[in-house]
Amino acid sequence: MEITMVTKVLEQPTLVLNRNWQPVHVATVERALVLLWNESARVVDPEDFQLYTWADWSKLKPRDGETFVQAVRFRLRVPEVVALTGYDRLPLGAVTFSRRNVFKRDHYTCQYCGAQPGSEELTIDHVLPRSQGGVSSWTNCVLACMACNKRKADRTPEQAGMKLRKQPSRPAWKPLYADHTMRIASWSKFISEAYWNVELQK
Ligand SMILES: [Zn+2]
Repeated sequence: MEITMVTKVLEQPTLVLNRNWQPVHVATVERALVLLWNESARVVDPEDFQLYTWADWSKLKPRDGETFVQAVRFRLRVPEVVALTGYDRLPLGAVTFSRRNVFKRDHYTCQYCGAQPGSEELTIDHVLPRSQGGVSSWTNCVLACMACNKRKADRTPEQAGMKLRKQPSRPAWKPLYADHTMRIASWSKFISEAYWNVELQK
């Protein structure tokens, strides 16, 4: 593959889906093309969901005004979304349980009253308090505002007469998109699709 490095294009982000079409990663265009070339992934056309192998994709001509990779003998369309072909090629493991990711999962929102007072005013609450044997995990930790945290104190929601807005769970995919300054419009279908899948699995 003799590609003249048009660095900026190759560094653009491509959304990577697993075999179930759940977003798992954001890769560079360069990485996506390598995955495509060695048959680890296929390009997904975000308009009609058609899949393309390297052989098919490399024959397509870029549309007018579309970004492309200038190779020595041909121009290559830039894939915006690719789907991995194998389960063993997942680029990422489970979502790490971290303070930052709990904030992201709960959308900076108190899980008791729905307030969004800003990260400074939010704390991580153990649903089953540590004093009662509660552990730090995806299913036992939620964001709570200062007022709700104080009100709940060392009690379970039932004991405190408070209600969780939803049961906490491990996010199904790594919330990487928020870290990318560049987000491609066509990704939204796949990302909202993942949200729906997560909701339905419960
Ligand atoms: Zn609250």
